[in-house]
Amino acid sequence: MIAYFTHQCDYCRSSIVSGQRWVREKIYDPALNGRDPSYHRYHCEPSAIREGSCWEKHQMEREIARTTARAA
Ligand SMILES: [Zn+2]
Repeated sequence: MIAYFTHQCDYCRSSIVSGQRWVREKIYDPALNGRDPSYHRYHCEPSAIREGSCWEKHQMEREIARTTARAA
């Protein structure tokens, strides 16, 4: 069993240092049935370099994927 003590952003793959704001998203994995749920973590602070936060971008990508799936 692997335990992660350092939080890692699932979008940009860089670590989330203490003091940074982040959000977590519960992952519904059928393979984890009956076990502890796992979470994806994302930066939720807007970056000056990139547009929007990792969390916002992740939401946007998910929305695009859903729209594409419906249109197909
Ligand atoms: Zn990030």
